[in-house]
Amino acid sequence: MRGNRMETSIRTKEKLRYAIMGGTFDPIHFGHLAAAETVRQKLNCQKVIFIPLGNPPHKKNRILSDPTHRYTMTVLATTSNPFFEVSSIEVNREGYTYTLNTIEELNKYYGSEVELLFITGADALLEIETWYKVEELLKLCSFVAVTRPGYDKSMLEQKLLYLQSKYNSELHIIDVPGLNISSTDIRELIKTGASIKYLVPEVVEQYIFKHGLFRE
Ligand code: ATP
Ligand code: MG
Repeated sequence: MRGNRMETSIRTKEKLRYAIMGGTFDPIHFGHLAAAETVRQKLNCQKVIFIPLGNPPHKKNRILSDPTHRYTMTVLATTSNPFFEVSSIEVNREGYTYTLNTIEELNKYYGSEVELLFITGADALLEIETWYKVEELLKLCSFVAVTRPGYDKSMLEQKLLYLQSKYNSELHIIDVPGLNISSTDIRELIKTGASIKYLVPEVVEQYIFKHGLFRE
């Protein structure tokens, strides 16, 4: 009896873990979905919150699709997974959007009972020092770097050690299924009239063609 009570009190003190999957999702594809699901399972997260990025300064060399389209495709792609949610926190924001502000806002919203883990692909982690106020950002939440075809894992490990020692931050590497899919390739396939079947969920494919996205 006493043991049971103690167990309960320990369990109630445990933080909830929510993973954040940020991306332009232009369009969302199976690489994003498989990475998020793998992190959720391996790190015991209660949910994954997908955040279509608003207007990130690092993508200013390309005009992104309308945020409403990117948000809707993300909702459609994640509907069948009860552990996946989508937040419009960034797509509703005016001007440039920064991950730091988003995490600050989510921390405020969820409070101290929730630990946030930010998922990035290997490519994103390798260039994280170009992100806005990286030092503050790395102190604010843990980062999970997922493997991605085309990006050397040992380079990722080296970068992780370097960031850990420079910023005293919490970072993890998680192996995810190696799906060599990128939104850039999908946009290119559509432009040339090639098939995008089995790269994105069928409902996303239908949405893209219904709205004539990425044709030029
Ligand atoms: P783009 O080619 O337009 O940059 P993308 O495929 O890289 O698109 P993003 O929206 O930029 O997709 O990616 C969001 C996040 O998901 C990033 O952290 C990225 O590294 C990660 N990611 C994207 N595709 C994969 C994949 N196939 N495997 C693992 N991680 C991925
Ligand atoms: Mg990318």
